[in-house]
This record gives sequence, structure tokens and C-alpha cells, in this order.
Amino acid sequence: MGFDIRVSGGTAILPDRGEVRCDIGIRDGRICAILPPGEEASDTSETIDATGKIVFPGLIDAHLHFGFAEKPGEYASETASAAIGGMATILSYFLNNEPYSDVFKAELPDVEERAHVDFGFHFSTAKEVHLEEFERCVNEYGVTSFKYFMNFRGDAGRYLGLDGTDDGYMYDLLKKAARFPEAVVVMHTENIELVNRFTQRAMAEGKDGLHALAEVKPDFTESENLMRAMVFAEHLGARIYIPHLSCRSGLNEVRAYRRRYPHVYVETCPHYLTHTMDSDLPASVGKANPPLRTQDDMEALWEAIGDGTVDVIGSDHVPRKKQTKMTNIWKSSQGFPGTATILPVLLSEGYHKRGMPLARIAELCGSRPADIFNIGARKGRLVVGADADLTIVDLDLEREVRNEELLSYSDYTPYDGWNLKGWPVLTMSRGTTVMRDGKIVGLPGHGIYLSRPYS
Ligand SMILES: [Zn+2]
Repeated sequence: MGFDIRVSGGTAILPDRGEVRCDIGIRDGRICAILPPGEEASDTSETIDATGKIVFPGLIDAHLHFGFAEKPGEYASETASAAIGGMATILSYFLNNEPYSDVFKAELPDVEERAHVDFGFHFSTAKEVHLEEFERCVNEYGVTSFKYFMNFRGDAGRYLGLDGTDDGYMYDLLKKAARFPEAVVVMHTENIELVNRFTQRAMAEGKDGLHALAEVKPDFTESENLMRAMVFAEHLGARIYIPHLSCRSGLNEVRAYRRRYPHVYVETCPHYLTHTMDSDLPASVGKANPPLRTQDDMEALWEAIGDGTVDVIGSDHVPRKKQTKMTNIWKSSQGFPGTATILPVLLSEGYHKRGMPLARIAELCGSRPADIFNIGARKGRLVVGADADLTIVDLDLEREVRNEELLSYSDYTPYDGWNLKGWPVLTMSRGTTVMRDGKIVGLPGHGIYLSRPYS
């Protein structure tokens, strides 16, 4: 049988087998063969030489935000940045107060016209109408993941443009989600009532900086709410996903609770693995939510990656200009770009410095998010029948992070000037090379919307 493309000579990360020298045959945008290196096959139109390289499944960034840069151009720039970072699929949060029956259909063509990689959405839920249209979101729009902000209570929610919700709303949302085996609720866990009180005090005392931010959002404000989220989820039988978990105490609560209720998934982000409140960052560049914490929390997250407590690593990519950060910690915008640096950070700080197995990276950014978010039949694993999504990596390539090469709307990253070892050199999406040697070679509009379950 013939191949459209043969990826030859590389070491692939195969599910349950780890690192295996093999060639990969591709036809009609799908993986059609995994064969011993050099084995004869009739007709190959194109060969991609992966000698000396690692072939990952096309990786997935399950945590991006659109809507903070400039629409609709950001759909091109941020998906290009994902492709630069070796991400072949992204899942982005749709934050809004309107009914999804209005905004989703209106917005989708704008993304489809511009996306460089395949994409899906998590819908944030904050209004009664979002509960009413829950079934339609799952059945008609193919959205199976929903975000709930436990911190958008009352005025804190209204200030951010989303309705203030409460435990009653959370109860009804989780109850709805429990009726759909494929649905998962992403729970931002933060006790905002404590945070507000601590913030007022810190501001009155004239405090500033990353230490002050960590002081007003101590780990207890995250892990106390996390406990409550798990109690609600178990009571109602819903699957929940804890994004951006940042602290040792939260990891311990999850470990303990999973023994009685296993349907709790955990994500952390690269910056909690590389930065602390003591990191040397200009002004408030390091402001994120949750805040950068202690060295001990950072070590706890690496341990939790090792022991399987962490399921997914997502970037929490927020593309804004640096100008929005160059003020005091209270006024600074929150979050920073990250989709282009997930993989080099994990390779450099995880694989090279800490001996983290490459197969673990393939799970954290591949099979785990794929399964949790219902795209695992076609994404996240190198198997025959899957989409021909590949991320080819040069483990020895050392490069200084330069923001302008990452193509985001943002004009900075927290890794500016870092020397990272291990970079993606090719990103393939459904048999089309979209990034090669750090340059975008695909076209905007290549990416398709992933109606889930995607199979
Ligand atoms: Zn986020």
C-alpha cells in the first residue's frame, strides 16, 4: 500500500511502549502504518527524515484564552504560536455572559477562517441561560467541557463582566454535567471572600510585588475551595477538572480524595514548575492566578507529575501586551503567553534536568487531555487510524527564548532570555506540515473545529 507521507528514521513515543524506533506511514491525513525502520513499502510521495529526532503524537494545549488580544486576528496569531510550540490541537476558553446559541455560531467562522491548528472550546458558565442551553451545547455544538469560576461570586464576578454566581448555581451545573458521561466541569477553585479581605489589608499597608500577591492568595484559598469542589462533584456524580493547580496542599487533598472519588482530574501549568514568587521578573510580569508560590510548591508539582497526580499540563496562555503588566501588582493584568513554550520548558527543565521520561510528556500533553476532553479517538496518540498529527522534536537543539519568534500578539514571555534545550522542529496537523524549523509553513484556516466527541 502506498503512503502520501512517510516519516522515517525517528524514535516515536508510542502508547504503552514508550520510545520505539519506527517509521510512520500517512495516508489521507491519517496514520495508516507504524512499521520497522526502513521496511519496504510501495509508493511514498513524500518522505520526512526524522533521523535523530523524537516523534511525539501531535501535542495538545488544553488551556488557552482568546479574547484578550485583538479579535479576530488573534485566532491566527495565537494558533500560529501554538504550532510554533509543537501544539497540533488547542482547547480554548470561551468566556462570556451571552447565550452560546447567539455567540458561538457568530464567532466560529472567524476562528475557522484563521486557525493554524485544530481547535475546540470550553464554555464558561455564569448565567441561568447557560444552564438552560447545556444540553444543546453538548448535543449540537459538540462542547463537552464547561468552566465554572468559584471565585466569581457576587460583586467579584460582576466586576469581571460575568454574573456573580453561587453554590446553588454550581450545584445545578454539576448536576446537569453528571447526566452526560462525556461532560466535564473545569472548576477554578479560589475562596474569593478570603482573598478580598486579605487584599484590602495588603493594599492599605502599601504592599506590592509577587510576594504580596501570594500573601493575599495563600494556598489555603485554593485548596479549601478545591475540597468543596470535590465534595460537590462526588455528591452529584460529576467529572471535574482542576485547572492550574499550584500548591502542595491542593495536590495532597486531591490524592486523598481520589481514593473515595476518582473522577477528579488535575492540570498544572509550566510557570508553576519554573517560577516562584522570588523569581526575577520585571514589574508585575509574573502576575497570574493562582499566584506564583514557593520553591516547596514547585517541588511538589514536579513530584506530582512523577507520581501521576497531575494529569495534564496546559499553558493558561493569555496574550496581552507587556504594557498591561508594567504597573503595580494590584492593577497589572493577569496571566501571560505560554502555549509556545510548554514543550521546550518540559524538555529542558523536565527531561534534561530532572530525568522526566518523554513518554510522560506524551501523556501530559497528549493522551490525557485527549481522553478527558473527548478527542482521544483521533488525537493524542500515535496509533493507526488516528489523525496524522505529529510533533517532531530535536532534543539537543538549544535556543534562547526570543518572544518575536513565538508569533503571539504578546510582546513578551516570562521565559524571555531563558536558554532552553529541546525544541519542536516540525508540527504536523492531519498530514499537513504547519510548522517547520521554527517557521509557520501552513496556512491560516487549516485548523478545523473539533466537535466533541471527535471520532
Ligand atoms: Zn485560564
